[in-house]
Amino acid sequence: ALPAAETNNNKKKIVILGSGWAAITLLKSIDTELYSITLVSPRDHFLFTPLLPSAPVGTVALESITESVSTLTRQGNGRVEFIQQEATDVNPESKTVTLGNGTELSYDYLVFSVGAQPNTFGIPGVYENANFLKEASDSISLKNKLKENLQKAAELPAQSAERKKLLSFIVVGGGPTGVETAAELQDYVTEEVGKWNPELAADCKITLIEGLGNILGMFDKKMYTYAQDHLIKNGIDLKLRYMAQKVADNVITVKNADDQSLLDIDFGILVWATGNGTRPITANLMSKLPETQTNRRGLQINKKLELLGAEGSIYALGDCTFHPGFLPTAQVAHQEGEYLAEVFKVKAEIDNTKEQSKIERLQSHIQDFKYDHQGALCYIGDEAAINDVRYGSFKWNFMGHGISFKVWQSAYLVMAISARTKFLIAYDWIKVHLVGRQ
Ligand code: FAD
Ligand code: NAD
Repeated sequence: ALPAAETNNNKKKIVILGSGWAAITLLKSIDTELYSITLVSPRDHFLFTPLLPSAPVGTVALESITESVSTLTRQGNGRVEFIQQEATDVNPESKTVTLGNGTELSYDYLVFSVGAQPNTFGIPGVYENANFLKEASDSISLKNKLKENLQKAAELPAQSAERKKLLSFIVVGGGPTGVETAAELQDYVTEEVGKWNPELAADCKITLIEGLGNILGMFDKKMYTYAQDHLIKNGIDLKLRYMAQKVADNVITVKNADDQSLLDIDFGILVWATGNGTRPITANLMSKLPETQTNRRGLQINKKLELLGAEGSIYALGDCTFHPGFLPTAQVAHQEGEYLAEVFKVKAEIDNTKEQSKIERLQSHIQDFKYDHQGALCYIGDEAAINDVRYGSFKWNFMGHGISFKVWQSAYLVMAISARTKFLIAYDWIKVHLVGRQ
């Protein structure tokens, strides 16, 4: 196996898998001089997922919410090697990672942060007929489909069945991804399509389908009820207690949880947002540690983010892990990345020490990871948001237009990864205000 980042031979080797929230936060926080670091990911950019639902309709440009990995790897003092490849196999025993091109990398420490993939629950027809909203490429295909359908529909007679089918936009999943996507689509129809072709906008219909009795389960009742009323008021057809059963070419079958009746709904665009599933490489790693990795929902870790069964050499962070106390969010992945950077600082000292008493003292400095939940925010359309902001034991809930929307915007500007993206996001928002979306 090739040693990762061969140039710094006397430093311990860290291989980081992924270029998402957990990996990039770690990379931005770690002292890159202390280790020989190799980052491996099929994706050459970081994606600021919180604003991804805004991209297909042009509220923000994709360039404004992505940052190239090469830029990010150059920010520290030390050299970080980036290999644009997918990891296909991890061998905890030999401490090696195999990449898609057949290369094997050896590591002293592996940071496993490959995220999750969209979950379809095995429902037939989803992969063939739906769009996801997880990657930058999903935004491009959704944007193209939207433009294509609007174009085709504009050439058909108003109110015709074929035109209404093309303009039926269905979102499955009433979590924050589905809600924000439906809200952005509705904004686009009302504020842009309505401006240049009101008859076309009148034939557009956005439907949000949720299997449970309410959307946005992570918010309290007052807030999700407000969000539901707001979506309905803005013209979204909210179908609660309807479970998607199967998808065929331009028609989805949903089942009513109350009377078990089946309903077929035609669509021109279907966005699938029913949450996270386990990536094959994560399932593969679990299968290598059958005694400790017993939960199919994600990798199990200890309080120091070490992978159970490979403590001391593999750390697992972010959406590829399962912990009952944490939702799979950027907030959790970000805090885990920051925490691990601190751990690696202490570990570098431990690795350079032979004195047992000093090692023990340093080891006692490695505290457990503690998640600080700072709340949740969700855009609900028409320049309104619901915000559940936490600070220690304080909790502020506010929702609606005006200040709530500004808080939502400000929070994401603060969270954006770089000065460049902060500037571009702010510029996009001003542009939408002044001249609309493209
Ligand atoms: P990711 O950020 O998904 O990164 C995983 C990385 O691993 C990617 O670079 C991927 O290319 C790479 N990878 C995949 N397979 C391999 C492989 N085999 N080998 C090597 N690399 C691999 N959370 C919030 O807290 N607030 C929000 O507002 C918010 N909004 C969201 C909006 C949307 C539309 C979505 C989809 C999610 C949102 N989230 C939000 C959730 C948040 O994005 C995730 O929790 C977060 O991205 C998890 O970080 P991660 O590093 O674990 O995974
Ligand atoms: P989610 O798991 O939060 O929500 C998925 C929804 O789909 C659930 O409400 C579920 O009941 C529903 N569902 C599942 N199968 C269904 C079916 N067959 N038919 C109808 N409904 C079905 O997923 P998400 O919205 O993609 O979010 C994933 C993670 O990312 C979450 O942890 C979320 O908190 C985070 N996130 C946060 C934000 C934010 O903070 N603004 C935005 C997006 C995502």
